[in-house]
Parts: sequence; C-alpha cells; structure tokens
Amino acid sequence: MRIKHVAAIAAAFTLTLGLAACSGGGAGTTAEPSTSGSAAAAAPAAEGALVGVAMPTKSSERWIADGNNVKTQLEALGYKVDLQYAEDDIPTQVNQIDTMITKGAKLLIIASIDGTALTSQLEQAHANGIQVIAYDRLIRNSANVDYYSTFDNFKVGVQQATSLLTGLGVLDASGKDAGKTGPLNVELFAGSPDDNNATFFFNGAMSILQPYIDSKVLVVKSGQTDFKTVATLRWDPATAQSRMENLLTSTYSDGSLVSGVLSPYDGLSIGILGALKGVGYGTASQPWPIVTGQDAEAASVKSIIAGEQYSTIYKDTRELAKVTVAMTDAILKGNTPEVTDTKTYDNGVKVVPSYLLDSQIIVKDNYKKVLVDGGYYTEADLS
Ligand code: BGC
Repeated sequence: MRIKHVAAIAAAFTLTLGLAACSGGGAGTTAEPSTSGSAAAAAPAAEGALVGVAMPTKSSERWIADGNNVKTQLEALGYKVDLQYAEDDIPTQVNQIDTMITKGAKLLIIASIDGTALTSQLEQAHANGIQVIAYDRLIRNSANVDYYSTFDNFKVGVQQATSLLTGLGVLDASGKDAGKTGPLNVELFAGSPDDNNATFFFNGAMSILQPYIDSKVLVVKSGQTDFKTVATLRWDPATAQSRMENLLTSTYSDGSLVSGVLSPYDGLSIGILGALKGVGYGTASQPWPIVTGQDAEAASVKSIIAGEQYSTIYKDTRELAKVTVAMTDAILKGNTPEVTDTKTYDNGVKVVPSYLLDSQIIVKDNYKKVLVDGGYYTEADLS
C-alpha cells in the first residue's frame, strides 16, 4: 500500500519547493524610506539614536526581508540599528531584547515569537523611557506596547478561505456562490497558538468556511476543527507535514480523497504538499487538492506557477517596513505616529493603536501582474 511508504516518499519529496532555492528576490527590495518629518527638524534625542529590531527567525524569507527593509530604511534616516534574529527560540529573543535595552536603544521594534513572553522586558524598556512597536505580531498581556504595525489579519484569513472556496469551485470568479453541493473533503491547519495572528487568520477563515461546513458542502472528514487541535506550534513545516501524514493515514486510507486544505502559511503548505505527494497526489489521475498559503514566498509562488499550491496571500513587507519606520521616526522626534485602527487589537491589557495594511490573494493568473509588475519579484526570482 502506498500509505505505508508515506515517510520514505515524503522524505524524498522535493517538488519545486526547496526554500533554499530562493534568492530573497524582490521581497528584499527596499522601498523608499519615508521622509515625513525632516531630519533637519529632528529633536536632538532622535539624532543617530539606536533602534533595536528583534525578528523571530531567518528560517522564513519574509522575516529576512522584513529585517533588511526596516534596517535599511532606518539607516537612511540616520538611525543606528541593532537587528537580531532569534531562530524561533523564546529565551534567545528575551536575551536579545535585554541586550538592546542595555546597549541604550531608544526604541524597540519587535516581531515576537511568543506574544506573551516579553512582559518583564517591556516593563524594563518603559522604565528606561524606551517605546515599543509590535511589528506584525501583537505583543500580549503588557501595557508597555505603544504601537502596532501589521496587516488586517482577520481579512488575511477571509482571503485564505475565499481562495480555498474559489479553487474548489464553490465560489465563482466574482466571489458568488456557484451552487456546488459537495460534499467536498477539506482539512484545516492553523498557525502557532502563541502568535496572536494565528487566531485572527483562523477566525477570519472560519467566518467564511463555517456556513459551508454547516450546510455540508464542505466536510472536515477528520472532525478536527478546533483551533487548538489544528494549530501548528512555531509555524513549523515539519509539524504540519506530519499532521497531514497522520490525517491521510487515519482518515483517508479508505480511498476517499482530500479536495482542499486550509493552510495559513506557505512554509506549512510546503509540508502539507509533501505529505500529499507521499500518498500519490499530484498526478493526472489524482490531482492536487486546493492548498492555500500566506506570504507569497518565492518557493510557494514557484509551486503555484507549477500548479501545485493553489494560492497564497501577498503582504508587501516593504510597505510594513515603511509604515514602521515612519512610526519610529515620529515617536523619536516627539510626534504622534499615524494609525488606522484603535479598536481591533486588544492585547489583554490595552487596545494597541495600530496601522493596518492591506493584503491580496495570489493565484497563477495574477502573480505576474501583482508580484512581478509590482517589483516584489523579478521573473528570474521565480524561475
Ligand atoms: C505572520 C505571517 C507568517 C507567520 C509565520 C505570522 O505572524 O503574520 O505572515 O506567515 O507569522 O511566519
């Protein structure tokens, strides 16, 4: 039986998906730094100030691009930057932030690993007059988070689910119900339970999928629909791959087929596709299910072009860096940064004023127009 060979085949799995193949491409391209507030008018405290930038991991290309973009744009405004990556290890990130405070950073930009693990560091930061911007991921349970720059994370989940339904033919191209009755087997994955975003993505997605589950157009055959059950600690692709392998063995060895998989991040999608490939999906007689993603990472855009992964969500990290750098510059010059949302992001202690950016669904039909014409990638990055 094919299923017995899942592990071996999955281990040999390559598709076109190797993360290493990625050059970082346009995702590393730096947008023009914001020039709002002229350097000449800078309050003396801002001049040449050190800004600590704590990023979670280099294992995903988006965070590499985020770190580079923020650093380059801050340096262009005359700031010094201490950029650190913590390889998804919470104590490492805690130490890095401690060191930034000791080194005299005047502001911290933090993309947290565990959004609840930084309370005492932030207390110390505020005691030293250091302001804190939560970058992309909300820092929870702390009054000492001043601003939050991110995307509309609920909407990202809505877009993931919408693309899943479009790929399945449940919705037509204009987003209208196409009258499909199903039942279509789907499985659900969520991100890391300690990342506030993961809940937003999942709730956004379920707001779209739940009515179709209720009406039995979609069937989650494993029965696993609860966030905690479908969550993937540290967004780890290997964890997603082995959960998918287990689902295929436990739920689909009766010959039934998976039609779609809600995946919240491109790295997980790669693992999920690996598990599917291991039991024979990706052939003319057993086509790929519809698999979603997020971040428009080069490896996954290549997979979309190759007809493997169906969709991803593009979040322009150049724009996120730009907004965050503008916030930093405003704060350090004693001005009030621009925000777009003062209601949504309650971190358990306070509602953190936020700047929310927009995201976009990418499929095979529009990757060129959006990602290549938009300068995020060159064609060469994707070939
Ligand atoms: C980010 C996503 C990313 C995920 C895994 C989330 O906090 O918002 O863009 O896919 O982390 O790195």
